[in-house]
Amino acid sequence: MTTTPATRPTPLAADLAAELDQLRRDRVYKRLNYLDSPQSARVQMEGRGEVLILSSNNYLGLCDEPSVVEAGIDGLRRYGAGTASVRFICGTFAIHRTLEAALARFVGTEASLTFLSAWNANEALTPTVLREGDFVASDALNHASIIDSIRLAKAITKCTTAVYKHGDLDDLVAKLESARGARRKIIWTDGVFSMEGSIAKLPEILEIARRFGAVVALDDSHATGVLGATGRGTAEHHGVLGEVDIITSTLGKALGGASGGFVAGPAVVCDMLTQRSRPQLFSNALPPTVAASALAAVEYVQQHPERVRRLQDNARYFREQITEAGFSPLPGETPIVPIIVGETATAIRMSELLLDEGIFVTGFGYPVVPQGVARVRCQLSAAHTRDDIDRAVDAFKRVGRQVGLR
Ligand SMILES: *Cc1c(COP(=O)(O)O)cnc(C)c1O
Repeated sequence: MTTTPATRPTPLAADLAAELDQLRRDRVYKRLNYLDSPQSARVQMEGRGEVLILSSNNYLGLCDEPSVVEAGIDGLRRYGAGTASVRFICGTFAIHRTLEAALARFVGTEASLTFLSAWNANEALTPTVLREGDFVASDALNHASIIDSIRLAKAITKCTTAVYKHGDLDDLVAKLESARGARRKIIWTDGVFSMEGSIAKLPEILEIARRFGAVVALDDSHATGVLGATGRGTAEHHGVLGEVDIITSTLGKALGGASGGFVAGPAVVCDMLTQRSRPQLFSNALPPTVAASALAAVEYVQQHPERVRRLQDNARYFREQITEAGFSPLPGETPIVPIIVGETATAIRMSELLLDEGIFVTGFGYPVVPQGVARVRCQLSAAHTRDDIDRAVDAFKRVGRQVGLR
């Protein structure tokens, strides 16, 4: 945050200042760290120098991949800075169509439609496809953007909603039983749950959906480029590629890390979103630079499946080493490796001490996760070398001793 000389204080400003003070007292106030280099395994952090990042979504290391950067520059030269309009007026470029076709092919659907963010994509989807008398069931640990999209759908359409316990398919079935009269039904789930690093039980969810005449909407933001032998996501991981009704995902994580998101699914779904979804109708399209970089990222993943393997190998190696060092990561197969440390204060203290050691990793405590299971969440990248990982594990050993964890 930058500040300029204060203007006349208002009652609102005084109120907010008091609320911010409370956040500081509760030790949940977020301080931003400024980086002065591309996202990579190691970055330049203002006031710190070089630090190793263990908390980025740059899963494949494509943020600074030369072909991805060059494609963005070419996009800028060819199309200029931006679209200067919403898509249906005059803001759609050829690169949008090429990118959307490539994304649909990659995740195994008929069509796709891009948005400025996955947040926007999710927000667009639920209110656009549901009507009064319809029903949506949502996993308790779904991403905030899914939760908000369902709230919006409920407010706009008066559809009914239910939250099922995380990964609890009996509870999902019970919720669907209670909504037998509903017309359209959606089961909304993350592919990979970001705080746990757990993977949705997709084949079972698809089977339940078919039994109840429901549609599965899968948010694969932490899975696209990450799961499956060739990075095509949760469906590839589970061997059900091409069977998921609707997939949403981000371009802001593995696929170049700039920004942007998409809804992929039947062409009629994408067409209806083009016709009716408010983030599409009233907000500009992806800047052509970003679309061009994202397209180059998709092409890169398709030509270099070994990058996906390296990510998966790094995750496996880190899990082994950190367990051997005496920590207890949540078990799993994703590059999200949460290390449970107990109290919120311990998680915060650990991330501070790790930063002193040159390792940038975030601690999460209550209320983001329940009391008593505060965690330091590590995320691996294909950009990490074995050396980077060994250095991180050594730092964890020293810091673990300092906070009395080992
Ligand atoms: C990161 C994330 C998003 C938001 O992605 P943006 O493109 O940055 O808006 C949405 N859903 C899930 C599951 C995510 O992890």
